[in-house]
Amino acid sequence: MSDLRYDKITNFSGSLAEEMKKAGLKEINACIQCGNCSGSCPSGRRTALSTRAIIRKIQLGLDEVLYDKDIWYCSTCYTCLERCPRKVPVTDAIIQLRNLAVQKGNMHPTHVSLSHALYNTGHGVPIDNEKWEKLREFHELPAKPPTAQSNPNAVDDIQILLKSSQFDELVGIIEEDEQAIEYENELDYLAKNVINIQAIVEVLPFL
Ligand code: SF4
Ligand code: SF4
Repeated sequence: MSDLRYDKITNFSGSLAEEMKKAGLKEINACIQCGNCSGSCPSGRRTALSTRAIIRKIQLGLDEVLYDKDIWYCSTCYTCLERCPRKVPVTDAIIQLRNLAVQKGNMHPTHVSLSHALYNTGHGVPIDNEKWEKLREFHELPAKPPTAQSNPNAVDDIQILLKSSQFDELVGIIEEDEQAIEYENELDYLAKNVINIQAIVEVLPFL
């Protein structure tokens, strides 16, 4: 899957606001642009994420928000909802925007990596090194959590579930598998030809 696209769509379509309403987020229209959400957003302190601006773009039906990399910087802590005087579900709106963005092929590379890790290990952030295992044991926890990390066979079940919702296609896992098969075929081809060349070189002195 390619990186985020930064080109902007600037037409007023109105369809985005409709999508949000269909998703049950009617409160978006109640936003009064007070900025409490932006002022209390921990991610906004470190990135350009402006929740107030994102809500306004949804209200105006500006599809460009689906191409905005800032929607991927939300940590889903829900502080914005807690502080909003109009109870606008900002976090849920951002999650919905991400869903729509992924359907258009836009996903932050970090989230692509997390999705691949989830598919391959059952964890977005696998505990796969000794340091974390020791830290867990220090806190009197089993080295590996009682999840797919301790039950590798469960990964097959997780992949069946993810495939049933086309998750693998959305995050580009199928493409990756096909590329791997192609790469393996190329390696096989090269290996066979190297053996043939070696055989020719070996018989050359006798010709
Ligand atoms: S806190 Fe609520 S009302 Fe204020 S800008 Fe954010 S979403 Fe809108
Ligand atoms: S849920 Fe996301 S947008 Fe809302 S305050 Fe937390 S990081 Fe910011």
